[in-house]
Amino acid sequence: MSTFRDLGLNPMILQALEEIGFETPTPIQEKTIPHLINSENDLVALAQTGTGKTAAFSLPVIHQLDEVDTNVQSLILCPTRELAIQIASDIEKFLKYSPGSVAAVYGGERIDKQIRELKRKPQIVVGTPGRVNDMINRRVLKIQSIQWLVLDEADEMLNMGFKEELDDILENTPEDKQVLLFSATMNKQVRRIASNYMKKPDDISAGDKNKGADNVQHFFYMVHEKDRYQALRRIADVNPEIHGIVFCRTRRETQQIADKLIQDHYSAEPIHGDISQSQRTLVMDRFRDKKIQLLVATDVAARGIDVSGLTHVINYNLPEKVESYVHRSGRTGRAKNSGISLVIVNMREKYKIKMLERAIGKNFEQGRIPTGEDVCERQLFSLVDKVCKVEVNESQIGKYLASINKKFEDMDRDELIKRFVSEEFNRFLDHYQNSVDLNSRVGDRDDKFADSGILFARFKVNIGTDTGLNVKDLLTFINEYKGLRGVEIGNVKLRNSHTIFEVDQKAKDVVMECFEGVDMDGTEVKIICEETGVRSSRNSGGRRRSNRGGGRFGGRSGGRRSRRSSGGRKR
Ligand code: AMP
Repeated sequence: MSTFRDLGLNPMILQALEEIGFETPTPIQEKTIPHLINSENDLVALAQTGTGKTAAFSLPVIHQLDEVDTNVQSLILCPTRELAIQIASDIEKFLKYSPGSVAAVYGGERIDKQIRELKRKPQIVVGTPGRVNDMINRRVLKIQSIQWLVLDEADEMLNMGFKEELDDILENTPEDKQVLLFSATMNKQVRRIASNYMKKPDDISAGDKNKGADNVQHFFYMVHEKDRYQALRRIADVNPEIHGIVFCRTRRETQQIADKLIQDHYSAEPIHGDISQSQRTLVMDRFRDKKIQLLVATDVAARGIDVSGLTHVINYNLPEKVESYVHRSGRTGRAKNSGISLVIVNMREKYKIKMLERAIGKNFEQGRIPTGEDVCERQLFSLVDKVCKVEVNESQIGKYLASINKKFEDMDRDELIKRFVSEEFNRFLDHYQNSVDLNSRVGDRDDKFADSGILFARFKVNIGTDTGLNVKDLLTFINEYKGLRGVEIGNVKLRNSHTIFEVDQKAKDVVMECFEGVDMDGTEVKIICEETGVRSSRNSGGRRRSNRGGGRFGGRSGGRRSRRSSGGRKR
């Protein structure tokens, strides 16, 4: 295995690398660095995200910078502002002992500040095509004498519709520059840029085309469509130390899932295009510092994320294109770490797994969605582990010990342990005590609401056909309640002794309220929300039958009764 010194880099760069902690080059660096130092040929390099591409293209550029020349010598184009910030920040570290400076220009931030940066004459400029083009048109960025043009994640820049901007920018560049094109995937569009903008490029590949990173394991979970969110929760619950990205397909879905996770007391935040740049930066900093466990993201927003040590990438919904899956899963297993990429699919999407397997050249393993019991056991032992490892601050705790001991003097060790563990653990027991095995529902047929995009909460009531309930009465009863008019109702399953129905999860508290104190032909109606584990209060006093719209239902006072607390569980 070669070292960075063997690759021909100068001592100033070697010293910076030593401080950063890069000991040996990654395969793409091993191939790219000597090529760029020794050859003037253009280069197409195929490399996954997370393989060390940034150092691969920027170290040889830094090595060859002309310190006397104050013109921009290298322009690096990339698809997103996050990636631009990341690349510029990496280059700044590499430049620590070398002459030269770097500036980043990207949309979503005040242009005057970036113009000031450009006026400081950086030799390297990193930017997104839109803002770079803007800067060129304003004549604050001059790229007529660049020697190296880097197109990073070229496939993504084209996917994002930057073709025109790329054409305009390339027109402003000199003929004799060296073009370096980096892409995680190789497709027609990328080949087209190579043939339009490059001169007989050499090809370098650190792995097969479109292949996933080697140290990532791929799993899929089959769920009934309506259980997708519950499956996500269980996956998160069974991995208490999870630090990962949940990928969604649209901004709306990203926001919805993040809202739901936050509402369910998970440490989660969304990032997508509708969120301001300053908020995104804040969220990313907190995610990097592990103050946020789950980042819920769209493909585009997650593009520049370089957070090492991510445990999981969760595909809440599969991306449209296989290539995006390669990008997504490449967010984990970075820099020689291992990682797990999970896909949640319904029955109708199963065939896509085969497509992915063919595309990445790796097999997926089918995972079993954890049961409530699995989650509880895992959480319990995680809690016990935490207690074993916790640091005790003797000087602070010491002064309270005597009075604490006095409080517990009547309890033996077993009792004490049980109580401490229960204090933390009851919330999982509460949530999962009536939980169903989601694996067993995969084949359920009636998922006509599967693609509606609405997230439903599931409820169970103790009345069914035996009590004379029918679907029409149930729907009328729900729809007539103040606050539930026009609410989306999903599947309804009538059984002899009970009924299961779904209502838009946003209305789940109102549904609980709607069934409080209601009876049907003298049978007190008891309801439980399967998602939250919240039940109707006991002994709410079955009331008179009424012949209002709900048919055989009785006991409700027209929805004007004050809403009782539903005793929400804390997590
Ligand atoms: P990149 O593909 O440039 O986004 O790099 C992915 C991650 O790998 C980043 O966190 C880099 O800091 C890290 N990295 C890059 N090259 C090396 C190396 N030679 N040794 C260790 N880590 C590296």
